[in-house]
Amino acid sequence: MTQNYDLITIGGGSGGVAASNRAATYGARCLLIEKDRLGGTCVNVGCVPKKVMWNGAQIAHALEDAADYGFTVERKHFDWAKLKAERDGHAQELNGHYARYLASNKVEVIRGAARFTGPRTVEVNGTRHTGRHVLIATGGHPVVPNVPGAELGITSDGFFELEALPRKVAIVGAGYIAAELSGVLHALGSEVTLILRREQLVMSFDPMLRENLMEHMRADNIEFVTNSQVSALRRESDGTLSVVCDGGTRVGGFDTVIWAIGRTPNTRDLDLNATGLACDQLGFVTTDEFQETGIEGIHAVGDVTGRIALTPVAVAAGRRLSDRLFGGMAGRKLSYENVATVMFSHPPVGTVGLSEPQAVLQYGAQAVQVYQAKFTPMLHAFTRRKVKVAMKLVVAGPEERVVGCHVIGPGADEMLQGFAVAVQMGATKRDFDDTVAIHPTVAEELVTLRTARPAAM
Ligand SMILES: Cc1cc2nc3c(=O)[nH]c(=O)nc-3n(C[C@H](O)[C@H](O)[C@H](O)COP(=O)(O)OP(=O)(O)OC[C@H]3O[C@@H](n4cnc5c(N)ncnc54)[C@H](O)[C@@H]3O)c2cc1C
Repeated sequence: MTQNYDLITIGGGSGGVAASNRAATYGARCLLIEKDRLGGTCVNVGCVPKKVMWNGAQIAHALEDAADYGFTVERKHFDWAKLKAERDGHAQELNGHYARYLASNKVEVIRGAARFTGPRTVEVNGTRHTGRHVLIATGGHPVVPNVPGAELGITSDGFFELEALPRKVAIVGAGYIAAELSGVLHALGSEVTLILRREQLVMSFDPMLRENLMEHMRADNIEFVTNSQVSALRRESDGTLSVVCDGGTRVGGFDTVIWAIGRTPNTRDLDLNATGLACDQLGFVTTDEFQETGIEGIHAVGDVTGRIALTPVAVAAGRRLSDRLFGGMAGRKLSYENVATVMFSHPPVGTVGLSEPQAVLQYGAQAVQVYQAKFTPMLHAFTRRKVKVAMKLVVAGPEERVVGCHVIGPGADEMLQGFAVAVQMGATKRDFDDTVAIHPTVAEELVTLRTARPAAM
């Protein structure tokens, strides 16, 4: 039997749920198909459980600092199972919230894996459904490399299934997930080794951020094995895992190895050939600025498009698409510029706009100036554990428009959202200077930076 809809969405994660709910509020008849848990990566194996673990890690650090503030606190025991149970319970609540919200908007939800049988026909559980529009919002999953013993390691999905705190962990990867998981595990009590293919972490970030992050991590005794490509994992006779790298480097004694080497889109099982749509070399569905795939009536949003892989980006792209298709807002689309992001490392990083090298590429070195500062925040003025703050404003042109704002240190995570509004609105350094500071805060330094230096060539 075939059912007809205005919008069929494949994938009930951040982008798919947002697009469906928004379309339904305009009166569109919507079907959403999800093969796993509602909420997708973010709610189940991404932002939400990760942030819960980060909060736990922050509390561990606060306990370390407590004595310096006069408290007698002994960190006797950390109950991983308790934190995991609370975290999973919270995710389940959100799963239910998503289901109720979709139902209240009259979005029909089918549980099962969808695949295309024609340009706008989708089959799930043996039934075919036809839509005026079909939205691909199937997200992605973690990559496991094709090396001997790879199956001995876990991915970020496996991290969220761990029943106990690992004693000694190797994390392979240099992206934000590798940085975040290493900070959490270290703070909660694991011995952590990070294995990087190159010299540094998070290469897409401003160099100031990654240099300061690595300095902090080294001070925390997180081990780095750099310029190393993993060629195998081995189980040793004592039961521990060893990581073997090209060139013969071998590090061992691990009870857990986590692959954090990237994510790949969920497009393989969609039978896209039935639609005439071709993915790019990496399997992503490429879209234009309006989330159009090039095949009439088929759209895509979120991680599956290979654009900025963040929940609010998937949500915003999905909502704007529905505004345009069903809400009468011709021309509505998401701008992918100046998307602010936070990396929940220890300490956290907040960043929006262009890094210094990106600004130099875009405007030319002569037109770019940099204001920066590094200091110990009052929180750590007298604690034994010192966590410094570093911040940078990248400005361009004679009017000194702020094109990049980058902060690492306590509070960076909550600080950046407001500054992102200013950067998005085209604020100049003068606007920052004219804003009266909030004292005493870390953030006030961003509106009191005084000395500029030319951009590095
Ligand atoms: C460890 C980790 C931490 C993260 N932390 C953050 C963070 O702090 N902040 C942030 O903004 N972003 C974070 N992200 C990224 C964020 O989770 C993703 O960008 C976001 O979830 C993408 O949403 P999406 O809708 O594109 O895909 P997803 O949320 O992945 O949803 C896709 C859905 O499609 C379903 N699906 C796939 N194929 C089919 C099919 N054939 N039929 C039916 N259903 C299908 C999947 O089961 C899934 O539920 C994190 C990601 C990870 C892995």
